[in-house]
Amino acid sequence: MSTPMNNLDLHHLGVAELATKLAEGSVSSVEVTQHFLARIAQHVDLGAFLATNPEVSLAQARAADARLAAGERTPLLGVPLAHKDVFVTRDFPTTAGSKMLEDYRSPFDATMVSRLGVAPGGAGMVTLGKLNCDEFAMGSGNENSAYQPVQNPWDLSRVPGGSSGGSAAAVAARLVPAATGTDTGGSIRQPASLTGITGIKPTYGRCSRYGMVAFASSLDQAGPMARSALDCALLLSAMAGPDPDRDSTSLDMPEANYATELLATSPDSTKDKPLKGLRIGLPTQFFGAGCAPDVLAAVRGALAEFEKLGATLVDVSLPLTELSIPVYYVIAPAEASSNLSRFDGVRYGHRAAHYTDLTDMYKKSRSEGFGDEATRRIMIGTYVLSHGYYDAYYLKAQKIRRLIAQDFQTAFTQCDVIAGPVSPTVAWKIGEKSADPVASYLADIYTLSSSLAGLPGMSVPAGFGAGGMPVGLQLIGNYFKEAQLLGAAHQFQLATDWHQKAPETAA
Ligand code: GLN
Repeated sequence: MSTPMNNLDLHHLGVAELATKLAEGSVSSVEVTQHFLARIAQHVDLGAFLATNPEVSLAQARAADARLAAGERTPLLGVPLAHKDVFVTRDFPTTAGSKMLEDYRSPFDATMVSRLGVAPGGAGMVTLGKLNCDEFAMGSGNENSAYQPVQNPWDLSRVPGGSSGGSAAAVAARLVPAATGTDTGGSIRQPASLTGITGIKPTYGRCSRYGMVAFASSLDQAGPMARSALDCALLLSAMAGPDPDRDSTSLDMPEANYATELLATSPDSTKDKPLKGLRIGLPTQFFGAGCAPDVLAAVRGALAEFEKLGATLVDVSLPLTELSIPVYYVIAPAEASSNLSRFDGVRYGHRAAHYTDLTDMYKKSRSEGFGDEATRRIMIGTYVLSHGYYDAYYLKAQKIRRLIAQDFQTAFTQCDVIAGPVSPTVAWKIGEKSADPVASYLADIYTLSSSLAGLPGMSVPAGFGAGGMPVGLQLIGNYFKEAQLLGAAHQFQLATDWHQKAPETAA
């Protein structure tokens, strides 16, 4: 048994460290859970959480402690986390950040929730609650939540990014050691970048979408957000893997143990050039005038560190990068308009109190339940799918989507991973972009193309830019190369300490 630690400091420990303490028996899951619940209660003003239920969380912690006492030693057992509020949960409400689902209770858990949770067969993690997000995961600043905006723990007047803004803020402020997120066009990577944490969007299909409130089904993908690549690897190992009876797009590939792979392939941090042979491609389009100089400086600083670790930098081209914005903002709303048609006041969600007939009930329920951004996307989506416009917009976008994916394959003949910024600027002020949705769409420029291609990508803390705000480095891998991305990020994190920096809110 190691020296008993001061429980007041438990939130400074990451997933792997907490797991070690729990396995040693120097702290119990109940103690860890109580500690984080107290922090969540102290920091309600951040707006990161939409729901907690201490009774439920502590019951789960007791179940984890019983498994630990019985000698079980699985890597995540007893460690707490929280879920983005688009994963349905039996024990907590699920709103997807929308008034439409204000009182919604799911009769079942999402596959990600059950795989990570304490129910039999799960990894044994304790759920601390549900995390704020943009309504139906539509947004880049978490300002589209129907409940409240989330504050960036590094500067409370700024956004934490979106749509997984609650997840990012909660991890950055040390209210949770890890969280789940979803990424349709950047919603794991961009908030991770803007709050100085690590997050990975796996290859499309790597994690089951069962029980994830659908936004754009051909793009939606779940992934972990935590402080380090190692912690993300631990979570992803539990999350990944086929879900044949529930999500036909989940990949029929055995799940990998990313953490073991990462530690096995790169155990020696003292080795001179642990990344020797790794070719990192830098797309010229990611390093142009559109990116703020402070962000570019941090990204270039991180790349210099990768070179010291033995990697080589090569120039590559992703010529259709600019088109990823219009293409995504045709395809994602098209799919959203179809997915959101289920919220009709009958089968799910809000129903208007007063209406004259069935059509009026649909109209009023949907107008009252959906916020501005969801409504905008339903209208755009319905338009681009309508007769006469389908070929001009939707079909054209699908064709360009294919070309974007092909460009990546061409680039991957010259390099192993692609790197660049995640976001063209650091986190902006709350309210700054809310009057102009297009300004917010443009901020997605570096994350959308890999989403359209279905490739894995991650954000790794890489330094600070204007206003002392965090900057993330994006690493994009070829299909199924999560282990390679996590391994490269892990080596970088062994050599640097950007991922260990915490805002004052986390003290
Ligand atoms: N910002 C993008 C959007 O608004 C991506 C959102 C996401 O990945 N869920 O659609």
